Formats: sequence, structure tokens, C-alpha cells
Amino acid sequence: MGLGQAAVEGLVSATEPACRFCSAPLTQTFVDLGLSPLANSLLAEADLDREEPRYPLHAYVCADCLLVQLGEFATPQDIFGDYVYFSSYSDSWVEHARRYVERMVERFGFDGDSSVVELASNDGYLLQWFVERGVPVLGVEPAANVAAVAEEKGIPTVVRFFGEETARDLVAEGHRADLLIGNNVLAHVPALNDFVAGMRVLLADDGVVTMEFPHLLRLIEETEFDTIYHEHFSYFSALTVERVFAAHGLRLFDVEELPTHGGSLRIYAAHAERGSHEDTGRVEELIGRERAAGLEDLATYSHFRERVRAVRQGLREFLEAARTEGRSVAAYGAAAKGVTLLNYCGIGPELVEYVADRSPHKQDLYLPGVRLPIRSPEHVAETKPDYLLLLAWNLNDEIVEQMSYVREWGGRFVTPLPEVAVHE
Ligand SMILES: [Zn+2]
Repeated sequence: MGLGQAAVEGLVSATEPACRFCSAPLTQTFVDLGLSPLANSLLAEADLDREEPRYPLHAYVCADCLLVQLGEFATPQDIFGDYVYFSSYSDSWVEHARRYVERMVERFGFDGDSSVVELASNDGYLLQWFVERGVPVLGVEPAANVAAVAEEKGIPTVVRFFGEETARDLVAEGHRADLLIGNNVLAHVPALNDFVAGMRVLLADDGVVTMEFPHLLRLIEETEFDTIYHEHFSYFSALTVERVFAAHGLRLFDVEELPTHGGSLRIYAAHAERGSHEDTGRVEELIGRERAAGLEDLATYSHFRERVRAVRQGLREFLEAARTEGRSVAAYGAAAKGVTLLNYCGIGPELVEYVADRSPHKQDLYLPGVRLPIRSPEHVAETKPDYLLLLAWNLNDEIVEQMSYVREWGGRFVTPLPEVAVHE
């Protein structure tokens, strides 16, 4: 039984996982983070006396195609059914989306006659900027609660998982995408081949696909193992993504490296059989750098594991020393990254008092596994911790600015990766 079938039946695959792209058996471990709860399953007070399901967080690298991926996973329904992440709660993310829209309109000249489709469109934080410019849009979003927020903003949104069948239905209804956007969705797709096949179906003849996803090269270089969680099935390099797209008749013609999520790629793709959109040469250049960094060598992937263990040891030693010295520690950022980091490192309320987060949808809930209570940022001002451990390091600058008053009582910011560091 392949992984795709397991997802359909709602099972967790037990033995002999297979590559979700090329179906080869997965035998090479990338990193094994043990058993962890689903990162976005925040707990209510009433849930605290119940045991949480935990799933293996074991990432493999396929020895055949080099795709880094999780070998076992929960069902998409479990993961996305009651999703509480609203993109609009991050100012810098909304601004990132605004600048992206500006660039796409400048580069490709989208206007009132174009059609823009975004996959995993969330609460419309990105498509709203196309609407403002009079460009017709359609969102595709599996989480009904966030899709409802987009609809309220006037962004038409289809509540469905995307794949080849959804794409065919949309085409039958008259949709073809001149711009097909997938930001931070490709990594979250369990049925990778079905998803990319669907993009090919929905893409207009001379249309452009752009996708953003965390770059495996940066994950490895910066020891960003906390970006590994159950919702995040695949971890792409330019090498692997080019291979996956080519298998579905899509050709990468450009790539940009972005600072988001600890280092992301934005790829540009078009139909392979059409000559539209000239190759910029940047994809080949980047693949060359990935080869030089050892991404075609399995030993590179096994060295990563040792560095992850060193992070756990360093962070635990720091927090235990703080406790011994009587210093108080709070964390900031109740996101998936923090859940992976804290659960893998075994850091609970005995070492960190609570985690602050700006989203009112998360406040007064608890982080899964380690069960840290989630509080408002105002709670930080009331409790004046000596250290504020930044878990959402992709937003560090924004958070340090918002929380700069921590310094008024001598509090200091702490970042956990690539090794624990205290900032004056
Ligand atoms: Zn493979």
C-alpha cells in the first residue's frame, strides 16, 4: 500500500514508507525527531486531562530522487479541519504579499482581463491586493473557517483540497489561471503528484505558476529542524522541485531566493511544451550551488542529524541554567515551529512559563505536547520575564520591534537556532 492510499483511508502508514514522488522505498533517515503531537492542534483547558495522539516525526531522504519527506503522517482532515492560522495576523507577511503582487503585475502585466488563482489562499491576505488593482481572482482553500473570512472581504473562494480533479472541475466552470500561485502549500501536500498534475490542468497556455516554499539548502545550513512538522510533508531543493515539475510537463524558467521562513525559494514555471517565458539561467545556477553544497551526496543529510542533537543539548543547558539562577523565561510565537522545537527538546512549563502570541484565536489555549499556556503579548508586560525565547524566528525583526519594551526591565531576547544566542 502506498502513502497516497494511506492518506485516503485515514490511516497512518506503518512500515516500509515509499517516496511520495518516485515511489522508491524510503530507507535513509534525514532526521528522526521522535513522537510529536500535531503542531496546530492547540488544546483548550478542557482537553488537558485527555491524552493527545502523537505521531512519529521521522524525515527521510529518498535515495533515488533525493526528495526529503516525512515517512508517516496523520490525515489532511485532522490537520486542516479546524485550522487556526490566519495569515493576516502577521504584518510582515501581509506586506510580503503586497510587494509580491506589485512585482507580478509589473513583470507580467496582469490586468482586468487576467485570471489569478491562488491555492491555499487562506484568509485572502494576498489576493486582496489583486482585487485592489481590479484583477479577477479565485481562491482555493480547504479550511472552511479561513475561507469564510476571505469571502467576507469580497474574495471568491472555493472550499476544497486542490488536485487534478478539483482542477478539472474548475476548468469545466471556465477557470484557467494566467497566474497560478501556491505560497507555502507545496510542502503541505500529501499527494504531491496529484497536486502538480492539477496545476498543469488549471494553468492557461501561456500562464505562469509561482510557488514559494522553504529551501532545503537553508534548512540544512541553518539547522532549521523546527520547520519539520506533520503538516509539512516535503522539503524541497531546486534540484528536486525541478524534477517533480518536469515529470508533470512544467518547466522552471526562473527562481528567486527569499528571506522568508528562514530562506525560501520562489519558483516560476510554465508549460514545458510552449516557448513562452524565456529561461533566466538562474535555476541552473542555483542547482549548481546545491550540488557544490553536497545536496546530491547522502552523507550531507546524515551530518544534519548530529547538529540537531547539539541544538537540543545547548538549549536545554541554557534553560536549566536560567532556572538554577532564578531567572524567568517566557516564549514568543505559538506556531508549529515552536511545537516541534519544544517537544523535541523536552521543554515544558518547568523551564518556560508560557508562550505569548498576538493571535486572539490562540490565546488561552495550550501548545500541544508540552502544554505551555498561550497568553497575549500584554501578559509579557505584566510578568516581565528575564528572557523571551523567540520561537517564530522567521518573524524575529517584527517581534523584537513589537516587544522592544522588554528591554525596559532588563529583559533579553533569546534565539534558539542555529545555536542558542542571547541578544542584548
Ligand atoms: Zn523518490
